[in-house]
Amino acid sequence: GKAGGRDALSFYQRGLSDRLRARTQLEEELRQAIARREFIVYYQPRMGVQPGEVVGAEALVRWRHPQRGLVLPGEFIPLCEEVGLMRDLGRQVFEQAARQQAAWIAEGHRLKLSVNLSPREFEDPALLPDLERTLAATGCPPQAIELEITESMLIDEGDQPLRMLQGMRALGLSIALDDFGMGYSNLAYLQRFPFSTLKIDRSLVQAPPHERPLAEAIVALCRAMKLRPVAEGVENACQHQWLLAQGVRDFQGYLFARPMPVLEFEAMLNGCRSL
Ligand code: C2E
Ligand code: CA
Ligand code: CA
Ligand code: CA
Repeated sequence: GKAGGRDALSFYQRGLSDRLRARTQLEEELRQAIARREFIVYYQPRMGVQPGEVVGAEALVRWRHPQRGLVLPGEFIPLCEEVGLMRDLGRQVFEQAARQQAAWIAEGHRLKLSVNLSPREFEDPALLPDLERTLAATGCPPQAIELEITESMLIDEGDQPLRMLQGMRALGLSIALDDFGMGYSNLAYLQRFPFSTLKIDRSLVQAPPHERPLAEAIVALCRAMKLRPVAEGVENACQHQWLLAQGVRDFQGYLFARPMPVLEFEAMLNGCRSL
């Protein structure tokens, strides 16, 4: 009846304002967290073909929240993107990663370190000069860093994306196309843009056997185009064996290791060196 309708309306309004309030509060917390440098980088090993062989790592940000503990990027990156905080956050991540990579190199490790870029970072004209400055300040060679971008950043943007990627290459950075095979995938992009690596999305890696031909064709395509395939989200030995048989040489996934804090990652690296 009438009363029910009114209740439903006020419930809706209350829900909306609660959500707004929560969002505003999160935004304020994020601003403080960036100022207080509460974000830390976790590293997920990229494995080679030899057992235990670590060939690289992906930098993945976490928020060390004073009350809530460790918060995953899915809970704060979208809002950071929306409210213009992603530049500051992204710069902090890149700086931590580059500093860490410089230290590993000084210790004799030879790893490729991947850093993710968000759409807002990718369209920022200040990105390239900032990356260049940070590389110089940390002493990290650009050749030791790979930037991961996604296809959505390349769509309908005129020639800006190509210029950006060429600028990255000119600095000596390499570029990976992330999440390849998820949703729409434009094969022409593989030709148009200067990628070194193709990260095969976990939806393909985890596909049931009758859906594997697509992933197998993508691996063959990589080989034909001199791109290096990296399988993401490898969770079991069966997926690993199948991908090895397809010629994949680089793997990431819970089968090998989860993203981990730097000390744990270093323990894994040193364990691997003493083998
Ligand atoms: P992504 O770049 O595709 O990163 C891979 C995600 O898959 C990570 O989640 C990782 O923990 C997870 N993962 C790794 N192995 C497995 C597996 O075997 N199975 C499953 N189910 N998942 C696995 P995470 O760390 O929560 O990051 C989520 C997304 O947030 C990333 O997806 C990336 O898009 C974004 N992200 C994370 N860190 C950063 C960052 O520093 N900057 C930017 N711009 N984006 C970031
Ligand atoms: Ca990634
Ligand atoms: Ca990915
Ligand atoms: Ca992603």
